[in-house]
Amino acid sequence: MRILPKLSSRHTDHRNYPPGIAYMDGQYLPIHEAKLSVLDYGFLHSDATYDVAHVWGGAFFKLGDHLDRFSRGMDALHMSIPYTKAQIIEILHNCVALSKLKNAYVEFICTRGTSPNFSRDPRDAENRFIAFAIPFGSVASKEQLECGLHLAITDVVRIPPSSVDPTVKNYHWLDMVKGLYAAYERGADTATLIDLNGNVSEGPGFNIFSITNGVVSTPDVSVLLGITRQTIFDICEELEVRCHAQDITVDKLKTADEVFITSTAGGVMPVTRIDERPIASGNIGPLSKRIMHAYWQLHNEGKHRDPVEY
Ligand SMILES: *Cc1c(COP(=O)(O)O)cnc(C)c1O
Repeated sequence: MRILPKLSSRHTDHRNYPPGIAYMDGQYLPIHEAKLSVLDYGFLHSDATYDVAHVWGGAFFKLGDHLDRFSRGMDALHMSIPYTKAQIIEILHNCVALSKLKNAYVEFICTRGTSPNFSRDPRDAENRFIAFAIPFGSVASKEQLECGLHLAITDVVRIPPSSVDPTVKNYHWLDMVKGLYAAYERGADTATLIDLNGNVSEGPGFNIFSITNGVVSTPDVSVLLGITRQTIFDICEELEVRCHAQDITVDKLKTADEVFITSTAGGVMPVTRIDERPIASGNIGPLSKRIMHAYWQLHNEGKHRDPVEY
């Protein structure tokens, strides 16, 4: 047997990992010690569902909504874990408390897991629950939040709902990654994919909104029903602004008055350029600013907050 030299430099040095705490296989671990078997079907087949919630100023935001979506995803994929909802909540709180992070990105995952004897029958697998808390991260950088993102509308088709249910948060990301490379090639910051009918879909981990003549729109099908997306509907109702889930053509997005994207990772993020052309004046639009402000204001409201005891 030839022993190959150790190519440790090819792997990310764990000292470069973000600080954080994970829970897996019954234990809390520093994030760099949380490791998964290569035989887990979550890794081999992307056979998993997950959710990401955030902690802001020491409290979870809309945690119940994230847990409900996670639970629906597990049901849809015929997965189950031996934890009650109350126990999952406790685990997530513990990850954040142990990490000491006041603003955190909290991901929880159910993978198909591993099967005895490496059976290919998904019913044989023992599903695995993993959770972790790391520092809050955003789709957009600080400059992009201040000046707006440059979005490319790619011709990459989002995996159709008849193949993979987009309302189950999943790791089928090769379409998204293809979209990102296409966007970078065109000098853009990020990408939107299209649906099978050629309408706007969503991007890597975010929903898309356009504003035309004071009416806010976001795609209806072929997208994850984002918790932030729902928050935008609620904010618009509060602001007495019309907001609809409906098809958005590529032309409508390109000629919109304002565009923004939404994700738990970053909240409401403005887009000021599409395919190298500025949207309207090229500045962040007034309604987008009001919605962004309202989004962060909501974090102070007790009904959405679930404080962590550190
Ligand atoms: C997570 C995600 C979103 C955003 O959902 P939020 O609940 O607002 O974070 C949108 N699209 C995809 C594909 C996602 O994975």
